[in-house]
Amino acid sequence: MDIYHDYIKTILKNNPIHAYLISHNPILDNKQNDIFISQFIKSIICNNHEAFCNNCANCNKINKNIHPDIHYINSDIDNKKISIDSIRNIISLTYIKPNESFSNIFCIQYCEEMSDFAYNSFLKTLENPNKDNIFILITKNKKLLSQTILSRVMDISIPNYNDPSTLNNCDLNIKNIELLIKNIIQKDIISIYSFFYTFPKNNLSSFLNYLLVFISTIKFQNDIKISNKDILLISKIYKDLSNLIIHSLELLNHNINHNILISYIVSKTDNIIKNF
Ligand SMILES: [Zn+2]
Repeated sequence: MDIYHDYIKTILKNNPIHAYLISHNPILDNKQNDIFISQFIKSIICNNHEAFCNNCANCNKINKNIHPDIHYINSDIDNKKISIDSIRNIISLTYIKPNESFSNIFCIQYCEEMSDFAYNSFLKTLENPNKDNIFILITKNKKLLSQTILSRVMDISIPNYNDPSTLNNCDLNIKNIELLIKNIIQKDIISIYSFFYTFPKNNLSSFLNYLLVFISTIKFQNDIKISNKDILLISKIYKDLSNLIIHSLELLNHNINHNILISYIVSKTDNIIKNF
């Protein structure tokens, strides 16, 4: 079940940063979302630096749930909130050097459940990153998080690879998406239109997932040949496009006719880019 390997590798292509926000994919069940999260954590500290290998000491300890540098923070069972005491406990651990890997990893599930006190206390820690600590915030509802948190994390969506075989046949690569983004920047509606229509229909789900991945990571990629000014523009339309893609994936999951869906995506994309 290593379907996320390449995706995670793309995200972590540049060295790990100090905080990530992973949003649950509502189409997937908790178990599938957890598989992604566990693979992501392994990829950060795997000894082989190739996403995760499932073989090294770090990967093995994560698989057995006994890695001393990985700390999970959950909400209290009684009031379903993450308490100030839990947050104080992690803050104290951030001053301790990691035992076996290069970094402590704090995985906060689900960060929207922090009490107000816990939240304020945690923000201070998040605002003062240090190289010994990486925070992974998990959320089931990103809308409940403040802009202050969102601006300090790299936002990651969990893709839905329901059918890995279509993914293998997919000749989609970063260049195609780069081209699409350039068309969007240039407001080249005709090219956007033809792009969606020429894309193999049985791969629409993979395509949308890749597009989502690309849009989520674009701000953090150094080697994409898009100017800083254009990246600013893309950041502005990022939110609308991500919402559109997530909604389209949901529609796709409800067996909507692909041509109707493509027309919908094109017209919505058209609206989004006209308005920025
Ligand atoms: Zn490994």
